[in-house]
Amino acid sequence: MTESTDFASLALAGPVLRAIATEGYETPTPIQARTIPHAIAGRDVLGIAQTGTGKTAAFALPILHGFAAGRDRLPARAGRALVLAPTRELATQIADSFRAYGRFVRVSVALVIGGASGQAQARALAPGVDVIVATPGRLLDHLSTGAVRLDQVRTLVLDEADHMLDLGFLPSIRKILARLPKQRQTLFFSATMPAPIKVLADEMLERPAEVAVAPVATTAERVSQSVFLIEQNGKRALLSHLLRDAAMARTLVFTRTKHGADRVVKQLASDGIAAEAIHGNKSQPQRNRALDGFRQGRVRVLVATDIAARGIDVDGVSHVVQFDLPDVPESYVHRIGRTARAGAAGIAIAFCASDERANLKDIERTIRQDVPRARLPALPGVVAAAEAPTAARPGQHRPAAAAPRPAARAFARPRGFRGRARAA
Ligand code: AMP
Repeated sequence: MTESTDFASLALAGPVLRAIATEGYETPTPIQARTIPHAIAGRDVLGIAQTGTGKTAAFALPILHGFAAGRDRLPARAGRALVLAPTRELATQIADSFRAYGRFVRVSVALVIGGASGQAQARALAPGVDVIVATPGRLLDHLSTGAVRLDQVRTLVLDEADHMLDLGFLPSIRKILARLPKQRQTLFFSATMPAPIKVLADEMLERPAEVAVAPVATTAERVSQSVFLIEQNGKRALLSHLLRDAAMARTLVFTRTKHGADRVVKQLASDGIAAEAIHGNKSQPQRNRALDGFRQGRVRVLVATDIAARGIDVDGVSHVVQFDLPDVPESYVHRIGRTARAGAAGIAIAFCASDERANLKDIERTIRQDVPRARLPALPGVVAAAEAPTAARPGQHRPAAAAPRPAARAFARPRGFRGRARAA
């Protein structure tokens, strides 16, 4: 199938095209150009794409296009399309996108996520809705009380399947699948394809069209990366030192634990730097407040755990700092992908203590690059961690580019581009 360079030639229904124009989108992103024709034709799709590539519209637009052609009456508590997402934040953003792209199709959307009133959700589901956007756990709750039925679902979307796996959602997804009709269209998206995800995709999809954009390695290539080898107790001073540079205008700091995130916020505060934490122990209003402050630039520094950060969609993150290295190398890639969104060049800085050397090695093997070492500034209390006595490095390593390579963008930011941060 040839790739369309404008939305009109994708043959989307008029009300959908109007909504796209209202959003200010001028050209489809590659994942949209490749997914939409297959999805409109009713095929299953296996999409390899990361957040930031425009994949939400890639699945939302064809679904809305189908609605524009006409809808049968729905029985009570039923849904026409079901979108499963791993986190509350991501689900919320997907629901917002459906509302925005579906404003002229008059779409009804129910958001079914934890941390919000189940009763209100049951009321929203009661008349039957066009689109249910859900996290798996809360959807299962509603299935068990009978507040929702899935036997009318025509299209299923599984978003960020690899994150679903990381978060232990595969058993829940299998339970949900058992409640869905066999006759349906499935659009399956994942940034990476580890073996268990491949198995799940094979189970769920029938002769899918496979589309891929921006493989994980591309993210690693377009982000300028460096790592400080630094002992744990010097990390705080180094972070404060780095943040004195005003160029770190919108910095996302990752810690391994919730407690660690809170500690970093406190330490920064005592160094006179305002920061907010976002993690699973924070209430939804607290998280929203922190996110809004970050989007609007009131707070330059947001400290997050991996899970909390997954659904965050903020354009214009200038720097990602990994205060702790993740245990799972793929998380490193997801983290650095939070900068360099929508084709922008980003800067990623990691701190690696002696006991994190094994993690760094795994990461370098995964991204098939060595992360360039940054020179530690002379600061009181800051001690360099030694390069571990290394065994011969595997042959596939090549040095990473020290500077970002703008040519390797996920997609060029079109004129009139407006990120979702506009909602802030
Ligand atoms: P997503 O990967 O779905 O999270 O989308 C990433 C960002 O790209 C969001 O802020 C969207 O609003 C924006 N976006 C999606 N499609 C387009 C497009 N065709 N043109 C411009 N911006 C887009």
